[in-house]
Amino acid sequence: MKLTVDLEICIVAGECYYNHPTLLKRNEETGCPDILVAELTSDDDIREAREAAEVCPSQAIAVID
Ligand code: SF4
Repeated sequence: MKLTVDLEICIVAGECYYNHPTLLKRNEETGCPDILVAELTSDDDIREAREAAEVCPSQAIAVID
């Protein structure tokens, strides 16, 4: 499974990288998230990615097959 972020609709709320720092990191220039783990292989990573997608206020984060 893959973690994706649509930076066109990210509103830089920061929920994703503050709550899931193992998967996402704040880009110092844009404030948008950089993806640290794009390929989700463990159950923990998949669960965290789904949580990040749920809390993103702009629905910019997706977990896809
Ligand atoms: S939670 Fe969503 S809107 Fe906020 S920084 Fe992350 S991707 Fe952007």
